[in-house]
Amino acid sequence: MAAFPRPLFFTKAGLYSSPMDVLAKLSLPELQKGWVWLVGAGPGDPGLITALGLRALSQADVILYDALVDETLLTLAAGEKIYAGKRAGVRSCKQDEISDLLVTLAKEGKRVLRLKGGDPFVFGRGGEEAQALARAGVPFRIVPGITAGIGGLAYAGIPVTHRDTNHAVTFITGHGADGKLTKLDWAAVSRGAPTLVLYMARRFAGEIGQALLAAGRDASEPCAIVANAARADQKVIVTSLSGLAAAAETAPALSIIVIGENVKLAGELSWLAKTTA
Ligand code: SAH
Repeated sequence: MAAFPRPLFFTKAGLYSSPMDVLAKLSLPELQKGWVWLVGAGPGDPGLITALGLRALSQADVILYDALVDETLLTLAAGEKIYAGKRAGVRSCKQDEISDLLVTLAKEGKRVLRLKGGDPFVFGRGGEEAQALARAGVPFRIVPGITAGIGGLAYAGIPVTHRDTNHAVTFITGHGADGKLTKLDWAAVSRGAPTLVLYMARRFAGEIGQALLAAGRDASEPCAIVANAARADQKVIVTSLSGLAAAAETAPALSIIVIGENVKLAGELSWLAKTTA
């Protein structure tokens, strides 16, 4: 047998001498000096990062990561790690400071990776950071990620759409930049799509439930709170629109709320508990 210099990894697609060789086969673009990549890390499970994101982790000189990023992913990064997260209601790291830092580091000639939970362009201020880079003339790439409102639901066995239940879905943030309930025409939202997926909404679940009931949604409509989705401590609470407020009170803080008939499929499709390590 031929001696191989490095450990071997077998995949269905063949034999590689390292996981990075697998990525090499994809001919991915390099994270270059003076560039910023805004990368989505996915909702939790580190396996949900994209190949582009994984490769960039190994190349970046500096990684600015937010609070939702899985720690395991950071252990794969050789570069300097800077925490640039925020906590609800507490401006522990101002958005302008993060954007300025990205620009400064890139202008120093660093390879900069901005790693954000889920998808950087879904309720994650990635758009604001990209605008700051564009305005400063810093070259950047957006690497989309799996957003909690789609991938997190999938980990709970809830298809975000299904032909039998909903042909449309609305994604909503429960609170705006001021930390208050989002100013929306809730009656119009209620009529707009059969399925509503709410980010950052646990705190306002009672008010949102009331607004939807007042707008004519059915009290028995199925709802789920998917907490810590795609993480080891994932918890799925299935309830009804009238039970949403009470359920939200006991739910862990990191939660996605989904309202609609597609929630019923969770009974049949919850696959995570059936997987073995
Ligand atoms: N860019 C992210 C969303 C950031 S906003 C994305 O695309 O997923 C933060 C909100 O996302 C949280 O308040 C919560 O509502 C939701 N969220 C993110 N990760 C989650 C997870 N693992 N489980 C449940 N909710 C999550």
